[in-house]
Amino acid sequence: MRFAVVNDQRIEASPGAKGLCPACGAEMVAKCGDKNVWHWAHKGRLHCDHWWENETAWHRAWKSQFPIEWQEVPTRDGTGELHIADIKRDDGLVVEFQNSPIKPAEVVTRTRFYGNIVWIINGTRRKSDLPQYREMISYHRPQRFGGVDIYTVYAHETRLLKEWGSIVPYVGFDFGDDTLCLLTNGQSELRYLFNIQKDKFAKMIAEKEPLPVVVLGQPKSNRYRWRR
Ligand SMILES: [Zn+2]
Repeated sequence: MRFAVVNDQRIEASPGAKGLCPACGAEMVAKCGDKNVWHWAHKGRLHCDHWWENETAWHRAWKSQFPIEWQEVPTRDGTGELHIADIKRDDGLVVEFQNSPIKPAEVVTRTRFYGNIVWIINGTRRKSDLPQYREMISYHRPQRFGGVDIYTVYAHETRLLKEWGSIVPYVGFDFGDDTLCLLTNGQSELRYLFNIQKDKFAKMIAEKEPLPVVVLGQPKSNRYRWRR
């Protein structure tokens, strides 16, 4: 984790530092090696949130675009189950950054747990994902609404879409450049795909602006707009 609590303050890991887990209060030790980003680990290894994935530079770069108090927010449901949201705004919107492969059933469980959630997926982890994505795009002709090229695709067209497109309403694929490919729901099996600059998207979340969606049944000029 990026933060541990020391004297009621959230502190980043530094060599030799000690702190407490902001979620469970257990002792944490600073891990400051060359291989991984400097982070905190639970002493005795077992993480209190079994959903937590090892933090990477990719996670860190995304999380850093948001206020510290929204990063790594302990969240409990009515039964007391505890998880730590990567980003949770004070109005409850959660953003999860998923680096490693995850089973669809897990995604469903986590989506249900957090409710209002935007998933951001590292699309560079599996070699086949970007070529498949590019191939799919090459078969479609975008429609331009509000200055944005929007592709209408099917929820099962690539492996990545199959994994995410049919189970979450709002997901972004990060293929490692400056843009995020956003996939949003259309009618039945249809999905809309469009690019947005990563920093612009992060800023919209940070400033609580409505996020972009495509809306059916609108005149063409008004199909691309913002959701609250
Ligand atoms: Zn803990």
